[in-house]
Amino acid sequence: MGKQSESFFERAKEVMPGGVNSPVRAFRGVGGTPRFIEQAQGSRLFDADNLQYIDCVGSWGPMILGHGHRYVVEAVKKAATKGFSFGAPTIGEVELAEMIIAAVPSIEMVRLVTSGTEATMSALRLARAATGRKKIMKFDGGYHGHVDSLLVKAGSGGATFNVPDSAGVPEEVTKLTISVPYNDLDAVRAAIDGEVAAIIVEPVAGNMGCVPPAEGFLQGLRKICDDNGALLILDEVMTGFRVSYGGAQALYGVRPDITTLGKIIGGGMPIGAYGGSRKLMELVSPLGPMYQAGTLAGNPVAVAAGKATLGVLKNSSIYQDLEERSAEFEAGVKAAAEKHGVPMTLNRVGSMWTMFFTEGPVTDWLSADQSNRQAFGKFFHFMLAEGVYLPPSQLEAAFFSAAHAKKDILQLIERADRALKKVAWEFYS
Ligand SMILES: *Cc1c(COP(=O)(O)O)cnc(C)c1O
Repeated sequence: MGKQSESFFERAKEVMPGGVNSPVRAFRGVGGTPRFIEQAQGSRLFDADNLQYIDCVGSWGPMILGHGHRYVVEAVKKAATKGFSFGAPTIGEVELAEMIIAAVPSIEMVRLVTSGTEATMSALRLARAATGRKKIMKFDGGYHGHVDSLLVKAGSGGATFNVPDSAGVPEEVTKLTISVPYNDLDAVRAAIDGEVAAIIVEPVAGNMGCVPPAEGFLQGLRKICDDNGALLILDEVMTGFRVSYGGAQALYGVRPDITTLGKIIGGGMPIGAYGGSRKLMELVSPLGPMYQAGTLAGNPVAVAAGKATLGVLKNSSIYQDLEERSAEFEAGVKAAAEKHGVPMTLNRVGSMWTMFFTEGPVTDWLSADQSNRQAFGKFFHFMLAEGVYLPPSQLEAAFFSAAHAKKDILQLIERADRALKKVAWEFYS
């Protein structure tokens, strides 16, 4: 391991909680010292000790074009030269809104915010404003940012640390949140009542590891919402422009009332968005009574990165290429796990995937939680030593980008094969 990352981490721990600005980066889920990243290019990360890694995190989703895409870098430079932020409207925001509306079937009007958390927080407020109801339903292991009322059985960092609820969140707030198992329509039907304003769901779960929706699950939620006067919020912060250009709603053919976006629509810069029908969005200030604002919302540099990213994704063969390469990776790694006798379930939707160290199937939080964390931790570190940067937690999704070439995929399979062989010796022999 590198000396620089070690010494930077010691310094970092003095001045920031756990040495990081977002918990999962601290490697608590796998042990060891986080790598301090110096720069990235294409599919590669370079750390402070100049060690090179094939990046399978992609900044947790945004970097679908890979790092340093020429077109995006140019757009950001150009925008930065003109000014960083004005606190006044710019035409770029209008153009990004138009691109989002053209791409995402259910969105007729959109509001840009600064993070995914802000998007989901605002979406809940909108659902409550529209219905006059208070309760929210979510799914066990579903993560929607660190919104107070959504830190109930949330996945992502919190789940791995076995802290389902955060300190500092009043019970009065979470009392209004109902959480039920993912992919379980009977549980939804049993728990819903006339006070539920909205069901919020990751249409492909990504924050308990990648868990695809069961056949008919999203359509079932649509119907239950309609039958009960609740709104359906698809949290597409991760899946938007990831599983298809129109997101999961285009892929699975389900029409939500409200959609939340983030990650890819900023191309790696801080952004978020929520949108829906014109009628719903007209409730948002200054048109309507629901207040929501942001000093840096629609930031011109972030918007430029987002526009450039969506511009490259649109009308390209990127999604098809991603599917082919990801499928090749899946087949190679599954064969290696089988060869070495490692019980492993690889869930994947397009370029979004997780290797769970369990027989599976993994369909919800409970089955994801069956994974052998020790085996994953060892695998993670074997892969890191091989020059592969995986999400440093079993219950997170990994991502490929357009910059992951065929040779990267072949290298990944080779390296995973060696790492799985060692995992087999330690855990399954
Ligand atoms: C990442 C994510 C969020 C939170 O976005 P931030 O920008 O980290 O606040 C919300 N929902 C989902 C599904 C996410 O993956």
